[in-house]
Amino acid sequence: MSTMSLVDFHCHLDLYQDHEAAILECEQKGVQTLTVTTTPKAWPRNRLLTQNTLFVRAALGLHPQLIEERASEIQIWETYLSQTRYVGEVGLDAGPKFYRSFDLQKKIFEKILKLCNQAGGKILTVHSVRTPVTVLDMIEKYFSPGHGRVILHWFTGSKAEAKRAVELGCYFSVNAEMLRNEHHSGMVGTLPVNRILTETDGPFCQYQSRPIKPTDVINAVNLLANLFSKEPSELAQMIASNLKDLEAF
Ligand code: MN
Repeated sequence: MSTMSLVDFHCHLDLYQDHEAAILECEQKGVQTLTVTTTPKAWPRNRLLTQNTLFVRAALGLHPQLIEERASEIQIWETYLSQTRYVGEVGLDAGPKFYRSFDLQKKIFEKILKLCNQAGGKILTVHSVRTPVTVLDMIEKYFSPGHGRVILHWFTGSKAEAKRAVELGCYFSVNAEMLRNEHHSGMVGTLPVNRILTETDGPFCQYQSRPIKPTDVINAVNLLANLFSKEPSELAQMIASNLKDLEAF
């Protein structure tokens, strides 16, 4: 159990108080981590700090919640795209605070999907708050599974929408918060286990009254193990193997 290999495939290490220490902890604990960015302006430093890491990969993002003020940064995003295999956080947010920019978000997300499809080999971590159908419609239209992989981060769509996402080739990164919600864990329980990864979305979630850390992803592993009636060590092994498959395409 002590050598259980953990996967946190959606977190924001650059938003912790000490970015370098957060990366170092993942390296020392051997947590396979995808650290996402919310603006391409954060990319150069993220890239620099993960150039020689064994466990931490950095993703180039433009967060849908920032589109209202930062849509023009898509040009910067595009100039960096060739520097990385990992893209995120990107996607759409139709929550009440961000709905005003929804049309603009769609334009930007369309451009991101098309450029990733064209480049090939990219792995995307995608936000879909209150808009699972539009996100899936756009993935279907603009992104071919033969050209890359999409991981739906914190997906909260229905079972039918999840099934459609599976048919489109999507993976799902699942966190403990989702699994504590009866409705969402019910949906997760219908997913093929070989499409599931784990995440924390740290530091945005709390754990024991402090920002959650990548090593806390063990909680998601334990909840998933319970949901699928597996031993935690076996479930962790499956997640690690899913990640291997995902990255080998
Ligand atoms: Mn996030």
